[in-house]
Order: sequence, then C-alpha cells, then structure tokens
Amino acid sequence: MSDCLFCRIVQKTIPAKIVYEDDRTLAFDDINPQAPVHTLIIPKQHVSAVQDCRDQDRDLLAQLLITCANVAKQKGLVDSGYRIVTNTGSDAGQTVFHLHLHILGGRHLGWPPG
Ligand code: AMP
Ligand code: ZN
Repeated sequence: MSDCLFCRIVQKTIPAKIVYEDDRTLAFDDINPQAPVHTLIIPKQHVSAVQDCRDQDRDLLAQLLITCANVAKQKGLVDSGYRIVTNTGSDAGQTVFHLHLHILGGRHLGWPPG
C-alpha cells in the first residue's frame, strides 16, 4: 500500500533505523521513543491489525514474535525485562494502521498501562 507509512519503510522509500530484517518481518526503532529501548516489529506484507489475521497468517504471526525475541536479545533486555504491546483501534490509541508490535524496555514499566 503506497499510502501506508510502514509499507513505505518496508520499501525503504522512508528512512528508519532498521535493527533487524528477515524475509517476512522488519524491526526499526520508534521515532518517538517512550522508553530507552522502543522498537517496532512489523510484517513486511500489509496487515492492518490483529483481527485481520487468518489461519494462513499463522507462520507470519509466529515469526513476528520470534523477531521480538531476537530484538530483545540484541537490545540486551532479556535479564531486565521488557514489554510487547500492540495497540489496536481508537481506544488503544492505534495511529498507524499497519500491524506493529512495540517492544519497550530499559526502564521500569508501570502496570496497568494508562
Ligand atoms: P501506534 O500509536 O501504536 O499505532 O504506534 C505507532 C508508532 O509509530 C508510534 O509509537 C510512533 O512514534 C511510531 N512512528 C510513526 N512514524 C514513524 C517513523 N517514521 N519511524 C519510526 N516510528 C514511527
Ligand atoms: Zn502497510
């Protein structure tokens, strides 16, 4: 989708600080970090949100979590801990409608989130 910001990051027509990439997923640092580590993990193919996933997306969804694990290790978060979040819809404050998992870490994270 040419009008989707994250599709354009996948196509590399918009720059991003890419920290991990494989055949189906991409990870890049958030432009407005909310914690010392704040990285976004996305599928390279356009998916709007979790509820748009189907059985055929099973492998892709698994790969997204494995990419989260790789990023958590690469960023040194495994011992201290981290949070994986996907905001979905207006109540959750989703602003980019291309599925993304936030990894946040490097500080204590309050619970419940606001
Ligand atoms: P959400 O509000 O959950 O939809 O998350 C969207 C995230 O994308 C926010 O944390 C933004 O700071 C981040 N973001 C927006 N534009 C960019 C960009 N060009 N590069 C990296 N992160 C971005
Ligand atoms: Zn997209």
